Amino acid sequence: MPSAGTWQRYASCEDGLRQGLLPMLRTWRDMGTQPYAVVLDMDDTVVRTNEETEREEPVPWLDALLDALNHDGRDENMSVVIVTARPLGQEQDTIEQFRAVTGWDIPIAQVLCREEGARDADELKDAAQFKYDGRCWADKVHAPVAATVGDQWWDVCCPTEEAENADSDLFDDDHTYVRTDRNLCTCVKLGTC
Ligand SMILES: [Mg+2]
Repeated sequence: MPSAGTWQRYASCEDGLRQGLLPMLRTWRDMGTQPYAVVLDMDDTVVRTNEETEREEPVPWLDALLDALNHDGRDENMSVVIVTARPLGQEQDTIEQFRAVTGWDIPIAQVLCREEGARDADELKDAAQFKYDGRCWADKVHAPVAATVGDQWWDVCCPTEEAENADSDLFDDDHTYVRTDRNLCTCVKLGTC
C-alpha cells in the first residue's frame, strides 16, 4: 500500500482536480477499450449545504470536477459509482440530485448508500470500512477503479492506512491531496473552501 508520503499537495480543489485527476483520467481513456470506474462521494464533494440558507448547492469546484470526469468528451468506458453515507433508500434521489446539480446526464452505474446503525464510538472506523467496501464492490462488480474522489480521508484511504496516520495532521487542512499508485488508481482528497 502506498505510504502517506506519496500524496501530492495542491493549493485548492480546482488545482488538484485539474492537475491531478484530469491527466490521469485522460491516460485511462487513451489506454483504449478497457472499462474503468470512478467512485465519487456526494456530500461536500458534488453538493454541499449553504450554511446561511441551509439549502444544498453545487460545490465551488464543480466545473473542475466535471471537466476532469468529462476529460475532453464523454468516455463510454467510464462508469461513475457514487458511494455515500446517505441512508439506504436515497439512491434514486441521489442520482436525480446529481443530475440536477451537474446538469450532466452521464449514466450512474450504481449508488451505494449506507445502512443506518453502527454509528457509535467506532463511527469513523465504520465509515472508513463502509467506503472502502464500496470501492471494492465497484471494482469487483463494475470495473477497475481508476479514481476515487471525496472530501474526507475515509473517502479515499484504506481503514488500516488511516489508522496509522490517525495522530497526524495529514489531510486536516484546506489543501487538496492527490495520490496515484502504480496501478494508475488516483485518489483525490478534497480540501475545504
Ligand atoms: Mg463527503
